[in-house]
Amino acid sequence: MIFLKTDEEIELLRQANLLVGRTLAEVAKLIEPGVTTRQLDTVAEEFIRDHGAVPTFKGFPNFEPGLPAFPGSLCTSVNEMIVHGIPNDEPLKEGDIVSVDCGTYLNGFCGDSAYTFCVGEVSKEVRELLRVTKEALYLGIEQAVVGKRVGDIGNAVQQHCERQGYGVVREFTGHGVGREMHEDPAVPNYGRRGNGAKLKKGMVIAIEPMITMGRRDIVWENDSWGVSTIDRKPAAHFEHTVAVGLTKADILSSFDFVEEVLRNKQK
Ligand code: MG
Ligand code: MG
Repeated sequence: MIFLKTDEEIELLRQANLLVGRTLAEVAKLIEPGVTTRQLDTVAEEFIRDHGAVPTFKGFPNFEPGLPAFPGSLCTSVNEMIVHGIPNDEPLKEGDIVSVDCGTYLNGFCGDSAYTFCVGEVSKEVRELLRVTKEALYLGIEQAVVGKRVGDIGNAVQQHCERQGYGVVREFTGHGVGREMHEDPAVPNYGRRGNGAKLKKGMVIAIEPMITMGRRDIVWENDSWGVSTIDRKPAAHFEHTVAVGLTKADILSSFDFVEEVLRNKQK
């Protein structure tokens, strides 16, 4: 069932999502060779709680009943890991990429957004994968307007990435966002134009392309959470939560805070 949100609820969703954007910026400040993803996770959890919110990922139940809940506040997925990486004590290395996915629960509503970061100097080939994945996210967002369909979003993402020879992960999708982190509808990163649920005013969805350099097939890690590319080639992941708009989607999360930090680091 798809829950449509009032304008007031959308403002609350914006607050939760802006907090995710600010948390990702705190993480961005620390990303360099030698830092561990556990250190990033600790800083993120503190920042979220200091702002009166709760990290939604922490304790999130496993998709498979009986398997452990997610232990971290962030999903940190390095190189060939696509999503759901558990933060650990392995230092990040020069040339790595790390997808950082963050969720908050604030005033009854959820925020959900992800950014893939470079650790030091990253090869041109991998930077290109990140650029195209982020472009695909914004092309998907362009389709998030009233009267279009979920398939229009997926089609825009898929066309853009496959044209560059990249793989589009099928097993995980974007989703509705509201009082729950994962609501209906599912928002796949592939699809046919004019197919799927119709987009209506009041719908809030997370769009999150998961794009691979090589094959799109996945493999589960032994920790019951991490998901990696089967060929161990790198994958990228960018995510925004957006409200479907009449003429233009309203992006509730933000990369502005992150990108300001990244610009300052380059100086
Ligand atoms: Mg997410
Ligand atoms: Mg999501």
